[in-house]
Amino acid sequence: MSNLIVANFKMHGSHAFIEDWFTNFNQNKTNSHDVVVALPATYIAAFRDYGIMLSGQNVSAYESGAFTSQISAEMLKDSGADYCIIGHSEAREQLNESNESIREKFDQLKRMQINPIVCVGESLQVKETEKTKDHLRNQLSVLDSETEDLIVAYEPIWAIGTGLVPTEKEIDEAIGSIREIFKKPIKVLYGGSVKASNAQILLDNTDINGLLVGGASLNAQEFAKIAQLC
Ligand code: PEP
Repeated sequence: MSNLIVANFKMHGSHAFIEDWFTNFNQNKTNSHDVVVALPATYIAAFRDYGIMLSGQNVSAYESGAFTSQISAEMLKDSGADYCIIGHSEAREQLNESNESIREKFDQLKRMQINPIVCVGESLQVKETEKTKDHLRNQLSVLDSETEDLIVAYEPIWAIGTGLVPTEKEIDEAIGSIREIFKKPIKVLYGGSVKASNAQILLDNTDINGLLVGGASLNAQEFAKIAQLC
């Protein structure tokens, strides 16, 4: 079955780097899952015709107006984005984003027919106090549980960029608690220290529909291996 494999470049790269990356990725990819690349917003338009679906990494909660520095859903759509990550733990923390603002962003994206990828995940402290389920429920409580075409990315904060990966049982418990919130089947991705060496194991042994890959996605060859359909 084809899964959704999302590369999150974060604030890495340059025009030349991304051009090389696409060349390399296309040379190395054989039969791959559905692939989406979340580029820094300034590069989306330049790479819209490279035959790979593109994603934003964030969007404004507002439609338009006096919001210096922000990018609207309409602008992302105009640039060629089909997807947009919202609620990434780095944005929640560094930009002080609330669940309510993530809800507004979700609505803006839906209005422009961009697929939101809503990131959720617990800190180490929440995990250690066994409050992961409540935490995930709270993060997702702002979304309409009947919404169609929802993509949630479960990304435990303690697993992002650390080399630590939850056990398959831990992933399935978290994914199960996310699925039970929604009335319709939804796509749930896992993100946090995914590499070529663990991607297939995670896809085979847990109830996920794909992966969100940060650090390892910057290497086109490695990402091509992660995205390869076995
Ligand atoms: C991320 O930040 O979305 C992520 C999954 O990062 P990494 O793969 O580097 O842990």
